[in-house]
Amino acid sequence: MIDHRHLTDDEAQLHLESGLAAPERARVETHLAGCPSCQALVMSFEALSEALSSMPVAEPPADFTAVVMARIDERELARASERQAALAVLGAVAVSLVAALAFAGQAAWAPALSSVSTGAVKALHAFRITSDVLSPLVSALRLQIIVVAAVVGIPLTLALSRLATPRHGQAA
Ligand SMILES: [Zn+2]
Repeated sequence: MIDHRHLTDDEAQLHLESGLAAPERARVETHLAGCPSCQALVMSFEALSEALSSMPVAEPPADFTAVVMARIDERELARASERQAALAVLGAVAVSLVAALAFAGQAAWAPALSSVSTGAVKALHAFRITSDVLSPLVSALRLQIIVVAAVVGIPLTLALSRLATPRHGQAA
């Protein structure tokens, strides 16, 4: 007895892939032989399958890796210049702090040095003429400057040392 049921989509695909079990396969083959509609269905699945398998796999452009690496380099460069700018600012602050400390110190050392070496005093005196306006103020504020320098300088030194040694692990 011939089974006149048309093939389902699943049956058509399984028939194409030779995935049907023996009794089912016999029924499908018998039906297909006499049914142009189901032959067309199977052929359409065959065409679809061939079209899919011959479709080129989307590949990244040839310069994909180069472009990505260039982007990473750009970011690294931006970070490096940020780091350099931060270093420059912190360095300038550190230098001015050291200068302020030396300035305060010079005002304090000058009287003691004057009894030791007249040559040194002459040099110091020339320097002091230019700083006569500021040195009373600086020497009056010497303690405050030292305290501020310590308070600012210690975290500053830590920040500088951390900036000076970039950790590559963070870049990723
Ligand atoms: Zn049919």
